Amino acid sequence: MSEAPLLSATGLHLSFGENHVLRGIDLTVHRGEVVALIGPSGSGKTTLLRSLNGLATPDAGRIVVDGGPGEQVDLTFDGSPRRAWGRAGRRARAARESLRDRSAMVFQHHHLFPHLTVLQNVVEGPVQTRGVPRAEAESRALALLDRVGLADKRDAYPRELSGGQQQRVGIVRALALQPDLLLFDEPTSSLDPELVGEVLTVMKELAEEGWTMVVVTHELEFARAVADEVLFLDDGVVVERGAPAQMFSAPRRARTREFLHRIL
Ligand code: ADP
Repeated sequence: MSEAPLLSATGLHLSFGENHVLRGIDLTVHRGEVVALIGPSGSGKTTLLRSLNGLATPDAGRIVVDGGPGEQVDLTFDGSPRRAWGRAGRRARAARESLRDRSAMVFQHHHLFPHLTVLQNVVEGPVQTRGVPRAEAESRALALLDRVGLADKRDAYPRELSGGQQQRVGIVRALALQPDLLLFDEPTSSLDPELVGEVLTVMKELAEEGWTMVVVTHELEFARAVADEVLFLDDGVVVERGAPAQMFSAPRRARTREFLHRIL
């Protein structure tokens, strides 16, 4: 197996107008690792996550994803217009699309299609974007739903499910894409407290199974138990990074201490 990191991002900058949101972010994720992103609201965590799967386009920096032989994505951002025409534009778009193919995102709100059943919600992605035959996508989807205890909900509509069940379907929908990298954007933050546990349990199981994950979270207990590395972002920079045990019990930087003090 290749020793190269699955994902390596260097020097990422991104501005929305005058708002310089990412100010030189470096991030390395090895296969099977779980990286947790923590930090105050507005510090750039979601924008960073969206940059990793091509939903946001940095102005500068580089993202390399090593998905195996013939599956490497190498994107350098040079501030050229996001909708550039010509060969360079086509190349950039193709690279962003392959970035999207390598990863799958679980959002804060589940984003399930309300008019589709649970099974249809899971099957549409692989069929539409990955060209998987429908029968195969369905049998895979059913196996995944079974794994998270939702096989009996296959014909239910999202509104008939609890928030925790909806998020578990969101996770299954991401898994069904068979990504190299799973990205989670605060998947439990919109849930009632009693529903948080069932979603974190599924995420913990995925980590134990060896999925590579980048997780934006405020659940520090979860990060402590599951993450290999924690990055503390503030104001668009990584202020501190390290193993959770060290970071949470002996943060080196004053800003990290203040943040942890506030939310613990
Ligand atoms: P976090 O996830 O840490 O809360 P975000 O990445 O969501 O931070 O936001 C960082 C900053 O970028 C905020 O000031 C936010 O208002 C701004 N921002 C995020 N997305 C957009 C967007 N699509 N357009 C303009 N500004 C945005």
